[in-house]
Amino acid sequence: MSFLQTAIVYLKGVGTNRAEMLQKELGIFTLSDLLFHFPYRHVDRSQVYKISDITPDMPYIQLRGRITQFRTMGQKRAQRLVANFSDGTSNLELVWFQGAKWIQESIKEGKEYMVFGKPTLFNGSYNMAHPTVDEPDADGQKKYLRIMPFYTVTERMRARGVDSKVLMKLTNTLITDTRFDIPENLPLDIIQTYKLVSRKEALTQIHFPESAEQLARAEQRLKFEELFFIQLRLLKYKLKRKELYNGIKLENIGELFNTFYNTQLPFELTNAQKRVIKEIRGDVKSGKQMNRLLQGDVGSGKTVVALMCMLMAIDNGYQASIMAPTEILAQQHYQTITTLLGDMPVNVRLLTGSTKKKERAEILAGILDGSIHILIGTHALIEESVKFNNLGLTIIDEQHRFGVEQRAKFWKKNIYPPHNLVMTATPIPRTLAMTLYGDLDTSIIDELPANRKSIQTVHRTEANRLRVYGFMKEEIAKGRQVYVVYPLIEESEKMDFNNLQQGFEEISRIFPDNEYQVCMVHGKMKPVDKEAEMQRFVRGEAQIMVATTVIEVGVNVPNASVMIIESAERFGLSQLHQLRGRVGRGAEQSYCILLTGYKLSSDGKLRIRTMCDTNNGFEISEVDLKLRGPGELEGTAQSGVLDLRIADIAKDQLILQQARSAAQLLLDKDPNMTSSANQTLLNFFTEYTKHSKWGRIA
Ligand code: ADP
Ligand code: MG
Repeated sequence: MSFLQTAIVYLKGVGTNRAEMLQKELGIFTLSDLLFHFPYRHVDRSQVYKISDITPDMPYIQLRGRITQFRTMGQKRAQRLVANFSDGTSNLELVWFQGAKWIQESIKEGKEYMVFGKPTLFNGSYNMAHPTVDEPDADGQKKYLRIMPFYTVTERMRARGVDSKVLMKLTNTLITDTRFDIPENLPLDIIQTYKLVSRKEALTQIHFPESAEQLARAEQRLKFEELFFIQLRLLKYKLKRKELYNGIKLENIGELFNTFYNTQLPFELTNAQKRVIKEIRGDVKSGKQMNRLLQGDVGSGKTVVALMCMLMAIDNGYQASIMAPTEILAQQHYQTITTLLGDMPVNVRLLTGSTKKKERAEILAGILDGSIHILIGTHALIEESVKFNNLGLTIIDEQHRFGVEQRAKFWKKNIYPPHNLVMTATPIPRTLAMTLYGDLDTSIIDELPANRKSIQTVHRTEANRLRVYGFMKEEIAKGRQVYVVYPLIEESEKMDFNNLQQGFEEISRIFPDNEYQVCMVHGKMKPVDKEAEMQRFVRGEAQIMVATTVIEVGVNVPNASVMIIESAERFGLSQLHQLRGRVGRGAEQSYCILLTGYKLSSDGKLRIRTMCDTNNGFEISEVDLKLRGPGELEGTAQSGVLDLRIADIAKDQLILQQARSAAQLLLDKDPNMTSSANQTLLNFFTEYTKHSKWGRIA
């Protein structure tokens, strides 16, 4: 057992009580845990200033001098403790609004102290409120005259006297122990290429840097290391999968594919669609299992690409399936695909949670005997009972991001794993894709069909509401249809639901039923009712659909040209973009109107502005990542891969890219990491994959 694996109780200064507290409150069990409890910030106390040199714009500074003349000022509630402080160059006042008794007891008048705080100019002289007061370092010691780390501690710990300073002391004890040693875990050439400091330096200086530059280099090294091992693991996984699994060979482009392409396809494919189909075709005939991510903006035509890939599988005697995140989306896929196929001899079925027992049995039999070619559905598809005869391709249309493990479930369904295509509903930022889907190859549809006019997006407030209704009437008079979407967010569900109802009533009043038909769809409705309402809109009988975000995914009504989003400030960017993607699907000019209150937060403003400025989903996703941070992005939490200790996917994009290319290059040269130069790396990596919290890679 290495020194760092020693239980924390054996560290000097930690008894059984403190050990228990550290375990309970911070999850610190070993010396290593303490070492990896990084400071959340540092404060520069390396300098001592003179009072006579103080200027009004100074941040926190440190002074050295003597305290004299404690006195209590002010009345009852506004009472404060004031002391004079002098360093021989000048004087200032120290002020405490709380804790007077304790301070007077613990500070001795006339003795020398270091005080640390922010000087403020008041009535022509300086004072410092609630300064930190410490005894000066003993000769040769550098306890306080340094860039000081500040550590997270809990209230409980503080109440029992274990504060940031105590953690600093403990960490210092650990780092100065003669047995403290940190072996390098990165190969030399990577360290040199990226000019990284050694692991030992980094782990020491992240706590106790001697300068801001040193701190920055320590952070850089630790971020790189963290991201590097994640990438190495993902890429290694990808490599291993390619070695392990011989894919099903879909060699022929056959009858169905050609017939569809030549006679059924109602439009010319975009170049991007053609390129992506080629990339997929390259994979599926290679004899290796395909694992590919297909990204494309809303409306870029991913469905038809998916269908053509499924036809490749069927032409070669295999079945294919699509799994969608919601029932509505599954139904939509089913409709789109059966319509596109027309009377081609392809047997497509839909299986969801609400499929009736009898039909379900029939479908299960049909996939088992192979008479069903394409199965479309929700999560119901990965249930045990769903057994395919010969599944060749699975497509996952994702709204929430699955981890590697969840995706893998799907291909346990065959002796030979089927090919996998993962489609994202909206684009996700490059760095996030690199991390969440780092084990997949990527295809991007970066072009919209030529007939699309870009959607005009505007921001309107309550004051414009009547004009917005007027505009809706004009569009409806031209024969178009309109969506009005309300937020329905769980915490405030009841209120939101009332808003939706009121909105529906208001719209029904303004658009009376002798002239207009208004339908409503929300998540609480019974599936049959929902379906009936949707159908009224899809068939064009209703001109207005009032809805919650249930319409977000998949709904495809090309005649709808106006999307009105109520309380738009409450939606996330990617959700707004998704919603907007419901219009602009036909040849007509389409509009998106973002209705908000008058007062917007700065983030809210940026979201609205971004929506008005661009239609590009990739750009929007980057802004979204910066605004919300990776942890908050829809559906990323369950993947676990973003539980990062120090790196930040949004802020450390460059380091992430470096880490990925370093990992890729290393595996290109030495796929099994068996060269002597990579030996320490391999040892570390083996341990890392065993113990890392991120247990998603089997
Ligand atoms: P998404 O990528 O958002 O899933 P869809 O596959 O739903 O997009 O396609 C959006 C609409 O564009 C559909 O009505 C589809 O039929 C149409 N479409 C797809 N590809 C083309 C194309 N190359 N030219 C014209 N229309 C297309
Ligand atoms: Mg789609």
